[in-house]
Amino acid sequence: MTVVTEAKPTSAKSASDEIAVEIINMNKWYGTFHVLRDIDLTVRRGERIVIAGPSGSGKSTMIRCINRLEEHQSGKIIVDGTELTSDLKNIDKIRSEVGMCFQHFNLFPHLTILENCTLAPMHVRGIPKKEAEATAMHFLEKVKIPDQALKYPGMLSGGQQQRVAIARSLCMRPRIMLFDEPTSALDPEMIKEVLDTMVELAEEGMTMLCVTHEMGFARQVADRVIFMDQGQIVEQNEPEEFFNNPRSERTKLFLSQIL
Ligand code: ADP
Ligand code: MG
Repeated sequence: MTVVTEAKPTSAKSASDEIAVEIINMNKWYGTFHVLRDIDLTVRRGERIVIAGPSGSGKSTMIRCINRLEEHQSGKIIVDGTELTSDLKNIDKIRSEVGMCFQHFNLFPHLTILENCTLAPMHVRGIPKKEAEATAMHFLEKVKIPDQALKYPGMLSGGQQQRVAIARSLCMRPRIMLFDEPTSALDPEMIKEVLDTMVELAEEGMTMLCVTHEMGFARQVADRVIFMDQGQIVEQNEPEEFFNNPRSERTKLFLSQIL
């Protein structure tokens, strides 16, 4: 199996030398199934990474390991200088710095949009209600739906709900955002509004790791595209090179199927 990687430094429109996430020789098994193999990945602060690859290649598992929704069995994951171990203090610290948005928005249906956004800041961070509400309104404005604040999730479109999910994550003031196919469950006409929100976040310098099939988004904002197959990082490169000059046969095959 050839592993093609580029040692080229990221052209990073805004990435710094500071390291946000470092994964070193990480392996994970589900029972006897070796799902992630020798993963090495360094993400600089402000870098935008798009993770692509066929279904079942381990993309979700890899990003879920970064905030310990899944546990890795060997190697190291270091987030913002803190190594993820079974120490609960470390896990809490990392979770408080890493926001995540999923394909399914997972909003609380019995809470209003505003309450969805203030719940964790109030109960996990201990932020007073007034302040949590002001922050929530700030981020709801940012995702362009402040007028929906008092509605319930079921009253919103899928695209609006996903933007609420993004705003809700931002209310915890994360330093890193993980996205796992945030537009895959959306009707086509709603995909753009969610991507626009993500582009804006990227342009503001948020460190982002996004699993997505939206290759237009990858071209527009990614500093680096990572291609995974069968639990490995097969190839990574800046978007221009990745799309125009894929190195491995597996990447070529994948691109020929999705582009
Ligand atoms: P992707 O996100 O790239 O589609 P996943 O990370 O979801 O891939 O899954 C990678 C592989 O691990 C797949 O073969 C999947 O069936 C398997 N897998 C995912 N979650 C579990 C689990 N909780 N237990 C066992 N196998 C799993
Ligand atoms: Mg997945």
